[in-house]
Amino acid sequence: MTYVVTDSCVRCKFMDCVEVCPVDCFYEGENMLVINPDECIDCGVCEPECPAEAIQPDTMDSMEKWVEINRQYAGVWPNINRKGTEPSDARDWLEVKNKFELHFSKNPGTGN
Ligand code: SF4
Ligand code: SF4
Repeated sequence: MTYVVTDSCVRCKFMDCVEVCPVDCFYEGENMLVINPDECIDCGVCEPECPAEAIQPDTMDSMEKWVEINRQYAGVWPNINRKGTEPSDARDWLEVKNKFELHFSKNPGTGN
């Protein structure tokens, strides 16, 4: 089992999650974070930290897609374990659905 970051993170990227992860397995894209499923130890402490409720266990329905997306981008984006500055319009994107299809950026973030 692993936890993964899902659609709600896109353009929100609050980064509250990264500070609590005991194994530093978050990776930063330009407008989303992902978890490396092969490094996550399933502790679950990040899940309630996310204001967007973007972090889900892979035991939920239809999570296969997100496990693959998290694994793919964790392999190419930089690691992040310190909270950076959230986007100024992050709160405006909280309730928007299907952001991955319409707004996801493949570009890496800056990490820390
Ligand atoms: S706290 Fe949630 S919205 Fe913020 S970066 Fe982490 S997963 Fe994304
Ligand atoms: S479940 Fe635990 S190990 Fe996995 S990403 Fe969240 S805080 Fe890190």
